[in-house]
Amino acid sequence: MPLNRRFRRVIRIGPVQVGTAPDHRGREKHTAACTAPRCGFSADYDSRAAAELAARTHRCPVR
Ligand SMILES: [Zn+2]
Repeated sequence: MPLNRRFRRVIRIGPVQVGTAPDHRGREKHTAACTAPRCGFSADYDSRAAAELAARTHRCPVR
């Protein structure tokens, strides 16, 4: 599922989007989310680098 408009600094690495948004406590979280239909990969990380690494290493089962 694509990231929604709350996310800032959204980039795309292959089928995966990485974006930054405040969580419910107002702290930044970094999310990697695959846009491929039926994949469903989405995960939150404490650092932008970790989220981008996850995006680069995501092996999408749909492709
Ligand atoms: Zn995927």
